[in-house]
Amino acid sequence: MTDGSNYIRQRESRAETGQSRDLSYPPLPPALVVPCYDNHTHLEIADGDDPLDYLQQLDMASSVGIRGVVQVGGDVETSRWSAEMAAREPRMLAAVAIHPNEAPRYEAAGTLDDAIAQIDELAGRPRVRAVGETGLDFFRTEESGRGAQHRSFEAHIAIAKKHDLAMQIHDRDAHDAVIETLLRVGAPERTVFHCFSGDADMARLCADNGWYLSFAGNITFKNAGNLREALEVVPRDRILVETDAPFLTPAPLRGRPNSPYLIPYTLRFMADHLGTDVSVLAAQISSNTELVYGQWDAEPVSGDAGSPWDDAVDPAQLA
Ligand SMILES: [Zn+2]
Repeated sequence: MTDGSNYIRQRESRAETGQSRDLSYPPLPPALVVPCYDNHTHLEIADGDDPLDYLQQLDMASSVGIRGVVQVGGDVETSRWSAEMAAREPRMLAAVAIHPNEAPRYEAAGTLDDAIAQIDELAGRPRVRAVGETGLDFFRTEESGRGAQHRSFEAHIAIAKKHDLAMQIHDRDAHDAVIETLLRVGAPERTVFHCFSGDADMARLCADNGWYLSFAGNITFKNAGNLREALEVVPRDRILVETDAPFLTPAPLRGRPNSPYLIPYTLRFMADHLGTDVSVLAAQISSNTELVYGQWDAEPVSGDAGSPWDDAVDPAQLA
């Protein structure tokens, strides 16, 4: 157990299934021979009965060939944490945004415009390379909150374009509306569907528009035939891989805390499914990832990026 000040959120223990789950971190998988990245993770969320802090998780990831991660914020506080940590940690780049399920809460408090302005400021900082996760979520947010979600999404698209950053999209039960928005206002040049949840037809449409599909551990789940079909049809130069840790732990570890060091499970599964070699796929995805976010060492880190947060924060879920 390490210094708890390195987390700013605690995952709810029943968040994933509503049932009890194994709260121990899985052991390290065999290391990748060709390194790869995790392009979407939430290291600010403590999980498990003996939480690992972001440095422990990054060290474990390094030991199995995960070169770097994109640390993703979902509100002003987690976005600021992400930007500050990325500023001093060479293996971390940051993505900043108001999550689509947070937008209605800010709106209700009358602070959505201010929050978006703060995201705009963070987006201009060094080592912040993406705006996200943003998008639409019709699963968690009901009708009354969707106006705020749409407004926030379009504002985030504008921020990504203004700073020439990649954009990470959260799309839950909102495929048509997300695509309609992107086509209407114009997607940022590098647009990623984080935790892609569509089918083969949607995958083709995304690829035709030059968008990227990031696959998470749920591609290993039994009922995820649509994701495996999407993976089969999408050109290899549009594929990314992520954990969305601490959520979406791949089979056979489902339900346990997730972490970037578990990427090899998902990557090996994807390579097996495609009938290719995991090193070939890792090389392709690494190259895709660097095209989307740039090189991890392109901007130097600094030692004085601020101190870790230690105040408890709203336990709202970001998955
Ligand atoms: Zn996420």
